[in-house]
Amino acid sequence: MKTIGILGGMSAASTQLYYRELCDLTRERLGGLHSPQLLIRSLDFAEIEVLQAKGSWREAGDILNREALALERGGSDLLILATNTMHKLADQMMEDVGIPLIHIADATAVAIQCAGLQRPGLMATAFTMEQAFYTDRLRASGLEPLVPNDDDRAETHRIIYDELCKDITTETSRVAYVEIASRLVKAGADSLILGCTEVGMLLNQSNVTVPVFDTTLLHCQTALDRALVP
Ligand code: GLU
Repeated sequence: MKTIGILGGMSAASTQLYYRELCDLTRERLGGLHSPQLLIRSLDFAEIEVLQAKGSWREAGDILNREALALERGGSDLLILATNTMHKLADQMMEDVGIPLIHIADATAVAIQCAGLQRPGLMATAFTMEQAFYTDRLRASGLEPLVPNDDDRAETHRIIYDELCKDITTETSRVAYVEIASRLVKAGADSLILGCTEVGMLLNQSNVTVPVFDTTLLHCQTALDRALVP
């Protein structure tokens, strides 16, 4: 089994989901006492969030690059960046890194295509919904992503940073998310991307009427597939 390097802490709440999911999947696939070989580097999200808010992306990318190189030196065979938003900096992160990055948007796009769907709604941070780095990558895979209206994007973003990244889940926010998802479906979405690694804390297939694609879970599945190739 190959060693998966996880660059996480963005937020710590979702990195815990990655660890749990990778452990569950490995047990399901290999049985017995098997568990995944992982190297987890968990950053202080407060420092990253300040750089995001200031628009200091170059500086944030330098941090990701330094940490990716450290994960490689530490013995990782492949890397995952456990946040959708910071994939904005994937190229900079991977400068001079010799091991592959499993891109979260690609893992998600493949699953949607395999399901024969094409018009996913996208619930994520404002960065992910509004900047081109993510939606263009989905479009390059032949998908037509649909983002929420202005108010719904602002509320989706607020709940991520004020609550989910602090490991807070409330019924009020769950209802708000269910309503935002249903407005996307009314607008024509044939599926829903949980495009932020914490959104699965509130939404899943039981409270959304179209097929749900949880980027955290898909990212873990794809990474483990790669780790188990001899
Ligand atoms: N985990 C989040 C994401 O998937 C948001 C936190 C961040 O900005 O990295 O986009």
